[in-house]
Amino acid sequence: MGIRRAGSAILGLVLLVMILTWSWQVALAIPPDCPPCKYWDGQRCVTDPSVECGDDWDCGVCCQCNEDCECERDPTYECSKVGGCSRDCFECDCDYCWCWDPSPGIVASLQVSNACLCQQTSHSVSAYDYDSFVDPYGGGGWQLDGFRYSWAKSAGSNPQTGQSIGPTSGSGVICRAPPCIGTVNIRVDIDDVAYSGDWACAGSSRNDVPIYRQAAANVVLPEGCSSCGIPSGPGYPLVNEQDGCYLCGPIDYGLWVPASESSHYYLLTTSPCYKLCTWHAMLQSVSTTVEICRSCPANPPSVLYYHDVAAMTQVEACAYLQTHFPNNLVQFADIRPDNWCGDCVAIHESTHLWQDWVEEQFMPAVEAFMAYLDLCGVPINCSQPTSLHCQTAITASVKSELDNAWEYFMSLALIGWQLDPDSEGDAQAAELECYQQIADALRAKCLGN
Ligand SMILES: [Zn+2]
Repeated sequence: MGIRRAGSAILGLVLLVMILTWSWQVALAIPPDCPPCKYWDGQRCVTDPSVECGDDWDCGVCCQCNEDCECERDPTYECSKVGGCSRDCFECDCDYCWCWDPSPGIVASLQVSNACLCQQTSHSVSAYDYDSFVDPYGGGGWQLDGFRYSWAKSAGSNPQTGQSIGPTSGSGVICRAPPCIGTVNIRVDIDDVAYSGDWACAGSSRNDVPIYRQAAANVVLPEGCSSCGIPSGPGYPLVNEQDGCYLCGPIDYGLWVPASESSHYYLLTTSPCYKLCTWHAMLQSVSTTVEICRSCPANPPSVLYYHDVAAMTQVEACAYLQTHFPNNLVQFADIRPDNWCGDCVAIHESTHLWQDWVEEQFMPAVEAFMAYLDLCGVPINCSQPTSLHCQTAITASVKSELDNAWEYFMSLALIGWQLDPDSEGDAQAAELECYQQIADALRAKCLGN
């Protein structure tokens, strides 16, 4: 009996197993519910490979898994700062980034070169810019930044600025100095390139404040040249006297004429002076040529010189005074061949020479010529090589123009001399005064003084 009951129990167990197995087979056709983001693969709930997160894996540190099993930014999570920079969440992990700091700024020094007139010269700037960074792990480093340059120039004491040759956006610039002396301000603006930087954290910057450097480049005169001072005249002329008794002729006791236009000369200093971008010739000396005859010893014979009175006796003096100088005040008509005095004729002719010609005509013409030289110079022209140095500025053609101007002023002087309405007035007055002194000396001697 005990065995039969046991056999029934086993049979029942077998049936139960068969029922359960069937149940499983039914279940294959109707998948069971799986948790979110999983699916039934026929045997069990597995994670959908297309989902981003779930029970099996998390998102990164700065994201959370939403209901759709997608990683989304966790608004409550803040990535730790890198230096002074905030750090973004990138693909759910705190970004690896460098926090850049542009300080200490751009360091630059400008070198400018002085130059002679129109000389080509170069200016350069040396600049560097260290930008530093820190990384998320507290390390750091630096990198050099590049630059953009912009050159400019402006007039300082120089009225001009010259020319730039070639590009003005590099670390150096080539300039041609102006044809004038004085300073030119050279300026370079320096900005770092607009480069955000490697691994730049959001909001970090390598952008430095732009700077500029400025310096004065001086343009100077070539060696051996100098600036014009206050114009100073050449002084009185050298007088070339062409004298000879043949000039007096048979009746004249004296004679004087200035020579023709081409017989008056000027000499320039070896180097013209500089004034306002121009060379000005300067007079070193002037000379004039005159034809003159005075006191020719043989025609007529000299009868009296001033010093002769001292050798006379009182009686001789009285007699001479009575016959030759009857008037207390000597008249020009009193002068005759028998009382003619070589000294007084010489004074007459000298007055013509020095007063009528040199002082009243020649020197004013020289001054007019000097004013012309001061006004009309040789402009310094960078494309005209002879104009770049004082010693070559006065070319043959320039000299020819100066000669023409000089002759023009000399011709005006000669015309002025010819048109003098009282051409003998000063000479005769000087001559009469000379005779008057002789008459006065004779009179004094005659009176016993
Ligand atoms: Zn005269």
